[in-house]
Amino acid sequence: APTESQQSTSQTQDEPVVHILWINAGLSCDGDSVALTAATQPSIEEIVLGALPGLPKVAVHWPLIDFECGPMQGADVFIEWFYKADRGELDPFVLVVEGSIPNESIKQEGYWCGFGNNPDTGQPMTTSEWLDRLAPKATAILAAGTCATYGGIHAMAGNPTGAMGVADYLGWDWKSKAGLPIVNVPGCPIQPDNLSETILYLLYQVAGQAPMIPLDEALRPTWLFGQTVHEGCDRAGYYEQGQFATEYGSPKCLVKIGCWGPVVKCNVPKRGWINGVGGCPNVGGICIACTMPGFPDKFMPFMDEPPGARISATASGAYGVLIRSLREFTLRTLDKEPKWRKKGRELLTGYKA
Ligand code: SF4
Ligand code: SF4
Ligand code: SF4
Repeated sequence: APTESQQSTSQTQDEPVVHILWINAGLSCDGDSVALTAATQPSIEEIVLGALPGLPKVAVHWPLIDFECGPMQGADVFIEWFYKADRGELDPFVLVVEGSIPNESIKQEGYWCGFGNNPDTGQPMTTSEWLDRLAPKATAILAAGTCATYGGIHAMAGNPTGAMGVADYLGWDWKSKAGLPIVNVPGCPIQPDNLSETILYLLYQVAGQAPMIPLDEALRPTWLFGQTVHEGCDRAGYYEQGQFATEYGSPKCLVKIGCWGPVVKCNVPKRGWINGVGGCPNVGGICIACTMPGFPDKFMPFMDEPPGARISATASGAYGVLIRSLREFTLRTLDKEPKWRKKGRELLTGYKA
């Protein structure tokens, strides 16, 4: 019987298949791969099984759960897809990169990270060499998670690897052979549906069914990263009334215990985390700005009140006292029924003869 890879190969001859080649071998924890397993809008299963109208046939080569990575097949079967792409035999493909790209040129010996072996030498192929080889052949490149987009935790000050994001490595004005910029979907980890929805968009675009993906100056999809955490937060009403938590467990605004939400672009409080549920501040966690290019250095130490918040929180604390007392007064009157709802012969409202 034909193997799964042979079946997929014959698919490429019969009808176009868009391949997704996933490299999770930057400096990474696989958290974004794990996150994708929780996506529901759409789920990765819906994408792979073609459950959505107009999608091209898709073959995902994803190390986290790929059957071809397993002992039954042997890793050679899995990595062969990447060799094919390198030889120019796989077209079109979307390259997904997870993890930051270390600077291999600054070390004395060995390598920082790699993915499979170089077929010519039998030696590990570094992640940056894969990028050098595959980037010119990819129809689109998607950087998944804050490590791949901007460097993330591994690129903190003092790290020895010189780690950086894909755009730092390839260039911020890099364009694919199809004219697409690098698409950044940050988050540590990425919000599952933000990733699956962006993959879906790119697949529609590769199939010629969607216009150019709209991106902001940090190459994030604008419809996902156009608003701040604060603008979608369940606790924003408390902020506006100057009511702040001083310890965890309170339902009030978390800014004084370290929330950066007012200046962070992220849709998680609106979208929830899994299946619409959760979303950092909504469920009690301060926003540590994990989607931002300056993360984590510019937001540390975590759990301290952000410096800029002192002025705005002090202002909202002051006028909040007045606003709250006026609202409490109004609320007391609105919390009672109108006086004409009573028994008796007197009609206090409605038609009078
Ligand atoms: Fe892990 Fe966060 Fe990096 Fe993703 S962005 S690989 S979750 S450390
Ligand atoms: Fe804004 Fe954070 Fe307060 Fe929510 S918890 S209202 S995001 S400062
Ligand atoms: Fe990251 Fe803040 Fe968004 Fe939570 S709300 S995912 S901490 S940017």
